[in-house]
Order: sequence, then C-alpha cells, then structure tokens
Amino acid sequence: ASGSEENDVVVIGGGPGGYVAAIKAAQLGLKTTCIEKRGTLGGTCLNVGCIPSKALLHSSHMYHEATHSFAGHGVKFSSVEIDLPAMMAQKDKAVSNLTRGIEGLFKKNKVNYVKGYGKFISPSEVSVDTIEGVSTVVKGKNIIIATGSDVKSLPGITIDEKRIVSSTGALALQEVPKKLIVIGAGYIGLEMGSVWGRLGSEVTVVEFAPDIVPSMDAEIRKQFQRSLEKQKMKFMLKTKVVGVDTSGNDVKLTVEPAAGGDQTTLEADVVLVSAGRSPFTAGLGLDKIGVETDKIGRILVNDRFATNVAGVYAIGDVIPGPMLAHKAEEDGVACVEFIAGKHGHVDYDKVPGVVYTHPEVASVGKTEEQVKALGVDYRVGKFPFLANSRAKAIDDAEGIVKILADKETDKILGVHIMAPNAGELIHEAVLAINYDASSEDIARVCHAHPTMSEALKEAAMATYDKPIHI
Ligand code: FAD
Repeated sequence: ASGSEENDVVVIGGGPGGYVAAIKAAQLGLKTTCIEKRGTLGGTCLNVGCIPSKALLHSSHMYHEATHSFAGHGVKFSSVEIDLPAMMAQKDKAVSNLTRGIEGLFKKNKVNYVKGYGKFISPSEVSVDTIEGVSTVVKGKNIIIATGSDVKSLPGITIDEKRIVSSTGALALQEVPKKLIVIGAGYIGLEMGSVWGRLGSEVTVVEFAPDIVPSMDAEIRKQFQRSLEKQKMKFMLKTKVVGVDTSGNDVKLTVEPAAGGDQTTLEADVVLVSAGRSPFTAGLGLDKIGVETDKIGRILVNDRFATNVAGVYAIGDVIPGPMLAHKAEEDGVACVEFIAGKHGHVDYDKVPGVVYTHPEVASVGKTEEQVKALGVDYRVGKFPFLANSRAKAIDDAEGIVKILADKETDKILGVHIMAPNAGELIHEAVLAINYDASSEDIARVCHAHPTMSEALKEAAMATYDKPIHI
C-alpha cells in the first residue's frame, strides 16, 4: 500500500473528519494516505452513529405511523408487525452501501487507504499494524489526527453491549426490550429512546442535570420534553445513578436524587449508557511526540488546526468544539486548505444542531438564555406549526419556530425549530445567520406555498412586525 514514499498529507482516522480531509487534500493535488483501523470507512458516524440511528429512527417512525396515524388518514391494515431482523438488515445495508461508497470516492480521488492501527513514531512517521497483519511505516510532511471519540461509561458500570449497552449496542438489539432505561438525556439517548419506545419499549430516561439536552433553548426544550412525554417517554431528572446489579434476570439500577436522599431501584431488560463521549487517542503515541491535550484528553489546536508539534494537526471529535459529524467535516476541509497554503474557515457559533426525534428539534446560533446573558436587547418572533397550512394538511403540526433578533439592527441571533423535518428547515436560517441577515430579510423572501418553510417566514415577520396567519 503506502510503502515508505512520503505523502504530503497523512490522515489518521477515516471518520467524517478524516475521510473528508483526505478527499479534499487529494483534490487539492496533495499526495494523501488515510489510515483507518476499523476495516470500513466513515468512522463513528457512518458505522455506529448518525447513519444507523437515522435508519432505525425512520423505520421505527414508519411503524409508529402505521399503528398510530394511518387509520386517521384512511389507510387501514388488518395487522401490522415488527420484523426486527429485517429492520436491522435495512439499517446494515444503508451503512455498508455508504461505507463502500467512501472507498469508491477514495479510489476516484486517488487517496491511498491503509487499513490498520496507526501510531506515531515521530512527528512525520506513523507505524501501522495493518488488518492483514503486517507492519508498515507511513511517512507524511503533514499528519492530521482525526481519531474521533469513543463511548464514555460511568464509574461502576461495565458496558457488555447486551444488557448494559452503549449507543453501539442499542443500534443492534436483537429483540425489543420490555423496559429500557436510558442514562443521559442528550440527543443520542433521546434518539435511541425514541426508536425503542416506538417499537414498544417502556422507556425511562435518567438524567443527573435538571434538564434534558442542556444546550437547547429552554422554551423549546420544555415543549420538546412535553412532546416526548406524550410519546410515553418517562423522565427522572436531577437523578444520579449510584449502582447497577446484573446478577438477576432483570438489570437493577439504583438511583438517588442528585442532591442526595433516598435511593430507589429501577428494573429494566436493557440499560443504555449515553452519558457523553470522550476523545479517542488510545495507543496513538501522542506522548511520544509531545502533542498537548487538555484535562479531558482533547487535542489542543490553534485556529489553523495545528497542534503544538510542527506538521501535526487535529480535527473533529478529538479536538474541542461541538462533537458533530458536519463540524468534523468542516474542520477537515479547513485544515487541509491551510496545509495547501489556502485559507480555511469554520465558525463554531454557526454550526447547526439537530435532534432527530419526531418532531425534530434543530437550532443555529444563540439560545434566548445566551442572548440574555450577553446583555443584548433582542426581539423574539414565534410561529406555531398549528397555524401552518402544510403541517395541518398532513396532520403533523406539533412544533414551533422561534427567532431571536437584535432589537436595534434586527440581525438574526438564533433560530430554533421544533417540527417534523426541522433538520432540513434549519438550513435557511443557517444560511441567513452566516450572511448576517436580518429577520426582515427572511420575511421578504418569497416562500413556496404550502410548505413548512413558510413557518420560518412567518416567525421572521413576527420578529420585527406581525405575522399574517396567526
Ligand atoms: P469518528 O467518526 O469517531 O472517526 C474516527 C475514526 O478514527 C474511527 O473510525 C476510528 O476507528 C479511527 N481511529 C481511531 N484511532 C485510530 C488509530 N490510531 N489508527 C487508525 N484509525 C483510528 N453527529 C451528527 O452530526 N449527526 C448525527 O445525527 C449524529 N448521530 C450520532 C449518533 C450516535 C449514536 C453517535 C454515537 C454519534 C452521533 N453523531 C452524530 C456524532 C458523530 O458520529 C461524530 O461527531 C463524528 O463521527 C465525529 O467524526 P470524527 O471524524 O471526528 O471521528
């Protein structure tokens, strides 16, 4: 594969950060090698993250619609069944098609692909124990660390991926658990909780913090939590997990109030630990070459993604910033542009965030709490999907658009959408925020009728003036 020939760029890790950086580097005419230990490309996101979770969210949503909504639309079945192996097979097919697709893109762009575990032997040399069992050294003028992140467990809890699972195990359960406890009310826990809840599990979410998804705008979060509760998800907030017992038929989880107090025991067939992810740098040899990390193991980089070691860069989940696939991709492109002597740019304040439940919640920019904390005078414009004709036409009208804009200049500061498809709707706002648009700019743009997007236009009207339809 690589031989000892020197590369312009070597990327360690083939996730969304790494594979995108490798393709971009090759497109810029740089001789590029990407090292990935997993055996397939696409990293956490494609193999055990974004893609399989969205596949299962879609399949379980279809089942839920079939059992809860179809009859109301005049579509009747004599019976509806879950075929879990088929559902899993469709998910696996989506994953393998996409991972193979990236291999195809590597070939097309002439990225050299080395399958194996990489570790630094010097700032310009990486030794790789390949999957085929040989050892090789890959040399590069520039080396990009894109090793991503891994599941974080909790003290005293051992993940066996059968009864105590991480998101990876939760994406591959072989039967629908009767009772599922989710530890951690971040987006991954809520998405996986939704999947199994729709398929019939009784889902309880245990969260140490007082709120679910702490980064979310509080008003939207409240509506979101209510919506999940309507879907029968139970929440135990301000609750600490103190012990787990797997000796019996059921898993027993002992919890107590976060502030201390009486303990209770919860029982479940499966416990999902989704209490966050940690940067992954095990076995990489960072200390050998002296790469600086912070207290929680994230690699420190400057605004050009360069570490403290000349020629060594880092991107994606392994560095500070939102742990999201699209952020990793942006890092990858910008990092390589800097290496190629061009200019790169990523603004972490304008990275959209999406929770892919139903309804979805998507946001960009600041929450109302953040705007308040900044002491900025602001206006809020809101529009509920109950007043949106398309949402009413399809009988899927739960949700709202909320826009925050500077009171004086009308510049948009933050946009928060809860709606079916909010993850698609948000991009109009992402574009607007990136171009420093005002809410009036959005309101004066003609939006097709009837679309969900009209709710964004109306919320924009409500921000500086009055909406029409409410
Ligand atoms: P990773 O994707 O983690 O890739 C790193 C790769 O490096 C891995 O394949 C690993 O095998 C490899 N590697 C590590 N060390 C070495 C080494 N020494 N040698 C060789 N290879 C190595 N994000 C979103 O934006 N949207 C979503 O919907 C979403 N859903 C998610 C759902 C779940 C269940 C999970 C777990 C995550 C989800 N994420 C989502 C987060 C997303 O997966 C990550 O932000 C993203 O994958 C980070 O990309 P990365 O390239 O930095 O790292």
